[in-house]
Amino acid sequence: MDQPFLVPAGSRVSLADYDPDYTGSYVDKAAAKAELKRSSEKLQDLQEVMWAEGKHSLLIVLQAMDAGGKDGTIKHVMRGVNPQGCQVTSFKVPTREELDHDFLWRIHKAVPRRGYIGIFNRSHYEDVLVVRVENLAPEQVWQQRYEQINHFEKLLADTGTTILKFYLHISKEEQKDRFEARLRDPHKNWKFSMEDVEKRELWDSYMRAFEDALSRCSAPWAPWYVIPANHKWYRNLVISQIIVDTLTSLDMRYPPPLPNADQIAIP
Ligand code: AMP
Ligand code: MG
Repeated sequence: MDQPFLVPAGSRVSLADYDPDYTGSYVDKAAAKAELKRSSEKLQDLQEVMWAEGKHSLLIVLQAMDAGGKDGTIKHVMRGVNPQGCQVTSFKVPTREELDHDFLWRIHKAVPRRGYIGIFNRSHYEDVLVVRVENLAPEQVWQQRYEQINHFEKLLADTGTTILKFYLHISKEEQKDRFEARLRDPHKNWKFSMEDVEKRELWDSYMRAFEDALSRCSAPWAPWYVIPANHKWYRNLVISQIIVDTLTSLDMRYPPPLPNADQIAIP
């Protein structure tokens, strides 16, 4: 798969250049769904080797505007993955204890151990997104964080963690549709909060903040991908394929067989 979604290190991202409706060569759901099924099967096999080998870990970071599809991505892309080797962490407004530490303290504790896939539903990037846009810390504090994040991610990468970061790119119009769907469907009401509407009013400021995070923190060892996310089926497929390609490139192996496995008799 060619990957026009990767943010090259050192490049300047302008989100207006990315079409959230993009679906590549796919015209509808059906073909993409069949392809996702194949990709999911590969992912399951790869995770099994990863678990057995116990050398690598994979950290997947998901960031998006509200209703951008973080939850749906986890649900659909991770379907079939062995829950024993997978751990999802959702980062909420920091607690008092978390605020009394550096911003990476709670993040570092949640990084997956060897053999595991760790998924961050929001992440340390909130500390340069919501914190910046809503003035939750002085500029001088959040400005330093881009470099601090880069150092942190380099440390993780140097010590066996493969990092993939996905920004789920939806249009403002699509967000409106999804909020309205949440309001119409009683089973989805719980997903809606008035705070989401307040954040929507700051849409442009959030876009600037995302652009800075994507531009300043995409590195070869911790790349950002801008995923067209208006179409959930395309979003799921692209993310699944990037994960599969990345894990395949790790060339993981099952531990060597026992020398005389076929001669061991079980009494
Ligand atoms: P949700 O993901 O809908 O459950 O909402 C979690 C909320 O926590 C969002 O409004 C985030 O912006 C907020 N949040 C997450 N991390 C931080 C942070 N470091 N500082 C402030 N708010 C945060
Ligand atoms: Mg929410």
